[in-house]
Amino acid sequence: MVSEVRGRYAPSPTGELHLGNARTALAAWLGTRAANGTFVMRVEDLDPPRVIPGAEARLLDDLAWLGIDWDEGPYRQSERLPLFAEALDRLEGRVFGCKCTRAELKQLASAPHGVDGPVYPGTCREGGLPALGCALRFRVAPGEVCFDDLVAGSVCQDVAGQVGDFVVRRADGLFAYQLAVVVDDALMGINQVVRGHDLLDSTARQIQLQEALGFPRPAYAHVPLVLDAEGNRLAKRDRATAIRDLREAGVPAERLIGLLGWSLGLLPAPTPVAARELVAAFAWNRLETSPWRCGATDLSWLMAR
Ligand code: GLU
Repeated sequence: MVSEVRGRYAPSPTGELHLGNARTALAAWLGTRAANGTFVMRVEDLDPPRVIPGAEARLLDDLAWLGIDWDEGPYRQSERLPLFAEALDRLEGRVFGCKCTRAELKQLASAPHGVDGPVYPGTCREGGLPALGCALRFRVAPGEVCFDDLVAGSVCQDVAGQVGDFVVRRADGLFAYQLAVVVDDALMGINQVVRGHDLLDSTARQIQLQEALGFPRPAYAHVPLVLDAEGNRLAKRDRATAIRDLREAGVPAERLIGLLGWSLGLLPAPTPVAARELVAAFAWNRLETSPWRCGATDLSWLMAR
């Protein structure tokens, strides 16, 4: 029996929803709706200093306005801390205390550079440091982790060689994204993880955590990023592509969805459409696999009357 698709969108309330976020949210929503699945909304608000007051309400409102609805949630990670603590307890034996700061590790000329900064050289691996007041790192397994991404295709990553033992709880007690996302996706029964291509490099780390915790592996789809006219990644502070600002400037939701749907490869040309009208056209193998450079012509099409 094929199990029901349970997808999710997991925004961080650290700024305004921009075109890139909306595009990923649309792909995640279509991936679930096209399979008649259940769509879960989860707010990733684990890092209090980065959370912007009011951002959650604004981004949820922007998503609803775009026609991207959800069946469960919004759940908030900040309300689920005991679940992360419990998972961490279960990892006992696979985690160790580490007192190395990021700055210290950066200074180690001997540490090769990996996908996410310097590769952790294993300084505290055998140190037997207490967990209290220390960061906790997950002891990674050697060798490659391979998975089939619904958009990026076949991917193999070497966590030990490219990242090393990574942090699952920071010295200040904050649970790391890698741990929280794995616990939440598993406990929420998510079997289809759709997110931006910037998180592709995190996937093998998350698979290693899933395996250590005995959780099933979801399907993955990493949606290519949106770049600005200069070829830079969109930033949350850049107002030109903030959904909120486009909306306030009078751009209709159907134009935004039409432009995003076209950029994803689901429409032959930008055409105003409602999100639900794209459901029938959706298939993972139709999805555009390279980044989309959103230029002045695209932005002026949005503004056209
Ligand atoms: N909260 C993350 C973000 O906004 C997404 C995490 C995920 O989808 O796994 O970039």
